[in-house]
Amino acid sequence: MNKGLLIVLSGPSGVGKGTVCTELRQRHKDLVYSVSATTRVPRAGEVDGVNYFFKSKDQFLDMIARDALLEHAEYVGNYYGTPRDFVERTLASGKDIILEIEVQGALKVKEKFPQGVFIFLVPPSLDELKDRITGRGTENSDVIDHRMSVAVEEMNLIRYYDYAVVNDQIDSACYRIQSIITAEHCRKDRF
Ligand code: 5GP
Repeated sequence: MNKGLLIVLSGPSGVGKGTVCTELRQRHKDLVYSVSATTRVPRAGEVDGVNYFFKSKDQFLDMIARDALLEHAEYVGNYYGTPRDFVERTLASGKDIILEIEVQGALKVKEKFPQGVFIFLVPPSLDELKDRITGRGTENSDVIDHRMSVAVEEMNLIRYYDYAVVNDQIDSACYRIQSIITAEHCRKDRF
């Protein structure tokens, strides 16, 4: 049996990774989603174990010490990380798994899984990105400024990725990503 594809969807905060990922999972029922661990406080409506595994800092540090995370990163004052076991078990069972993570973490995954499929979601423009982060209404202005300056630096890392997909419209972005997944399944080196 072929191993599944490890798909990493990354890009700056506010580019719409979460929305695109949710839509992809609706369209592609076999695609398994990796639920991350984080020390960030839950936003309204977020559910533990569904959106994230919400952890205290001590619990998170313990996961790092037990090597339970495939990658982790500190992002705007909080820790985020990908539970390793779940990813490895899903791939071994032949299913595709998608990680929706920020760029430092994506680059760490690339060191461990160079055969993964690395997709960078690009905002149509930086102005649009700021509007999206502001429009979400969940962050104060300091956090918005910080996220914007991180986003500008992150755009330079696009060169490490296999694919760049502009998120101009959710429908077309999902269509392009689905086409990438289909093409990756047809690679001759998978046979
Ligand atoms: P938010 O706080 O808006 O949910 O997420 C902030 C950033 O952390 C987003 O760019 C999101 O993709 C990223 N993120 C979520 N989970 C993980 C993870 O497990 N690892 C890493 N490196 N980044 C993550």
